[in-house]
Amino acid sequence: MKYLFSLLFLLAYGSTVAQQPPVMPRDAAIEAKIEKQLEQMSLDEKIGQMVELEIGMITYRDPRYVVEKLARMSEQELADTLHRFGLDKQHNAAQLALKTPEDKQNREKLMGLYWVSNDIQAKLPFRLDEAALDSVVGKYKVGSILNAPQTTAQTPAVWNQVVKTIQDMSIKHLGIPTVYGLDQMHGTTYSAGGTLFPGAINMAATFNRDLVYKMGEIVAYETRACNVPWIYGPCIDLGRMQAWSRQYESFGEDVFLSGEIGAAALRGMQGDNPNHIDAYHVAGCLKHYFAYGAPYNGLDRSPARLSYEELREKQFAPFLRGIREGALSIMTNSSNVNGMKGTVNREFITGWLKEGLGWDGMVVTDWGDIDGAVTSDRVAPTAKEAIRLAINAGVDMMMVPSQFTYNGLLKELVEEGSVSMERIDDAVRRILRLKHRVGLFEQPNTFVVNYPKFGSEEFAAYSRQAALESIVLLKNDSVDSQSRLLPVKQGTRLLVCGPNANSMRTLNGGWSYTWQGDGADREEFTGHFNTIYEALRNKFGSEQVTLVEGVSYDSKRWAMDHADNIADAVAAAADNDYVIVCIGENTYAETRGNIADINLSTNQKNLVKALAATGKPILLVLNESRGRAISDIEPLAKAIVHTMLPGNYGGDALAELLAGTENFSGRLPYTYSAQPNAMVNYDYKASEVRETISGVYDYNAKTYEQWWFGAGMSYTTYTYSNLRADKNRFTKDDVLTLTVDVKNTGAMAGKETVMLYTSDLYASLMPDNRRLRGFEKIALAPGESKTVTFRIKASDLAFVGTDKKWTLEAGEFNIACGDQSVNIHCTEDYTWEEENIPDN
Ligand code: BGC
Repeated sequence: MKYLFSLLFLLAYGSTVAQQPPVMPRDAAIEAKIEKQLEQMSLDEKIGQMVELEIGMITYRDPRYVVEKLARMSEQELADTLHRFGLDKQHNAAQLALKTPEDKQNREKLMGLYWVSNDIQAKLPFRLDEAALDSVVGKYKVGSILNAPQTTAQTPAVWNQVVKTIQDMSIKHLGIPTVYGLDQMHGTTYSAGGTLFPGAINMAATFNRDLVYKMGEIVAYETRACNVPWIYGPCIDLGRMQAWSRQYESFGEDVFLSGEIGAAALRGMQGDNPNHIDAYHVAGCLKHYFAYGAPYNGLDRSPARLSYEELREKQFAPFLRGIREGALSIMTNSSNVNGMKGTVNREFITGWLKEGLGWDGMVVTDWGDIDGAVTSDRVAPTAKEAIRLAINAGVDMMMVPSQFTYNGLLKELVEEGSVSMERIDDAVRRILRLKHRVGLFEQPNTFVVNYPKFGSEEFAAYSRQAALESIVLLKNDSVDSQSRLLPVKQGTRLLVCGPNANSMRTLNGGWSYTWQGDGADREEFTGHFNTIYEALRNKFGSEQVTLVEGVSYDSKRWAMDHADNIADAVAAAADNDYVIVCIGENTYAETRGNIADINLSTNQKNLVKALAATGKPILLVLNESRGRAISDIEPLAKAIVHTMLPGNYGGDALAELLAGTENFSGRLPYTYSAQPNAMVNYDYKASEVRETISGVYDYNAKTYEQWWFGAGMSYTTYTYSNLRADKNRFTKDDVLTLTVDVKNTGAMAGKETVMLYTSDLYASLMPDNRRLRGFEKIALAPGESKTVTFRIKASDLAFVGTDKKWTLEAGEFNIACGDQSVNIHCTEDYTWEEENIPDN
């Protein structure tokens, strides 16, 4: 359901903004209950509601395996312990044992033991520490808990029991249920046996709103089956910086695509009535508000420098779309924009969001971000000052998440008058509103027994379909005058190489069963799914498919790889017809995925070069969380397929696509740069992409991409014709109808994403090269034609000018679809006074 609201009353940005009409209608009965509850709450209880702690704070840790105990073990004892827990491949006792007094000060060794302790605790059955829980809820009156026990997927049975225990304690002590929050990033990340979908970047690559909606519904259902009502997603950061380690969590670089896909995911999660979310849906949390995905140097949580125009017109747009769609909560950006940390940015949180949109939802910080204001961003000298800044900026809930000091500090701030009671009441109202809206007062617990479709074949079919529709064919050259490399004919002998050839982990990416994605290698989670190699054997016959990886990832330093046996791979090529090289990245999440060089690893490039030298045709399979530059090896391949992170069914889907029993239909949701210093987005400004100028200026000035946003081939051909606009002159209130005919002119059925782009030819502020304004994915049988209709509002063509106002300028616009284009003419200038163009 779409919540429309009128912004007619909005005053220009910067002026005193009066109370805005809420973006979605409130429920008067809920509001009355909130007021009554608020009256009865003490300050301690109110502050407790504003604190969110992680499950580790109430997790029992076996005292035999805490760091201090491990530190006292001899090398042999440590080796035995590692062996007992099956961790001897991951950790090396000889390197970790503390043998000398210097060792005891060695940070690296101590960190190593910390990870050993964590890994051991994660292998032990999870147990709540009930005494700690009693203190968290009884003494500190904490209103929310987050994260998966041991940051590892748990069965619904464990979840049901854990959350119910917390819930019972909350209701007993506070009379208010807790709201448990979880990162279910691409399907049920943390629910063992649930339905994991391809990564978010793949969901965008499907360009299929219905599939994304379905993913939202399924993840909500399965999360409720685990007794959890709140998901930290969808993540609608614009992934405009290819090197950024979280690009794969986004829906890609484009403003419109991210808004549409994000809205579909959110609708699926929250259902049709965000005021009354039923027991099959959850509250969503748009993140990370906002402009997190544009770090200047590509490193996670490092500064973004963006103009007001870019912020308002692009970075804010998907959030505006999500808020208008009824998003119940938002997580702040833990990074900083123009020197201001997201968590303490009053202008963005209170100004743009709460007052600017009249939004009455709840704002939570990201993990430990108030601390981050002191430690990483240095905008506050003490935690207390950081709390003051954050709460006064409009933060309602502090994801602390591992300290007990915040309650006391916030109380001091209130008592000193640095944070007003009015602000506290506003925050608590918003938290209670979320709890009411998600139905926790009526039904504090939900149990898997009422969710028979959890992990069902019915749900799996959508994940499989999403994998199929997200894999992108980028190159398919001829091998002879008759045929191209793909599809691979039955009977072809295939050599499969590369570190990604036989890994479930790399198919799934970060946030899969565990935070860093390493859990996706565990037999218990993914043993029944197929890696690329296994799927190819199933499809083409095991005698036809040979595996020699050539390069493998390090078992501890996951980003590193080793050129173990390139020579063996080369030797094996002689007995095979084609070589399929599965290259890319290992899994990572957040800051641990930071890189200084966007180039693919040297070992992997060398593997491709050595295999290409055999003369056998090469198919490159790119299985990576972001585009790693491959311009030097790209010419060596006859065909290139980009799987991104296609999930548990990714191997099977790839095998079907390579065999030609299914057709490719995925499209790139971001521009794949060719070289490290040539990163660009498809909606670049005119002078951003330059050709080499001849003559004296004939130096290497060319910025070029490997593949543009939207790229993607198929086994059939589509012909576009007859693009027409219903009017060729328009003004700001017009709605333009554009139609185009698309025909499948090849021999195979397929799905085509029909994309509509506009270009403002000249504007007072350098116009974007082009902008996606509409897309529809249509199925076409061979010979079949369909007419696709797009309706775009004239106001969609406006931009934010130097006066910070939305402006539509008279002049020529080009509309393009496939190889078709028409020009239309805006006849009048218009400037909106509102901060955001009203949604009507
Ligand atoms: C991430 C968020 C996540 C949060 C809670 C943070 O480290 O940035 O995306 O939702 O942790 O787990």
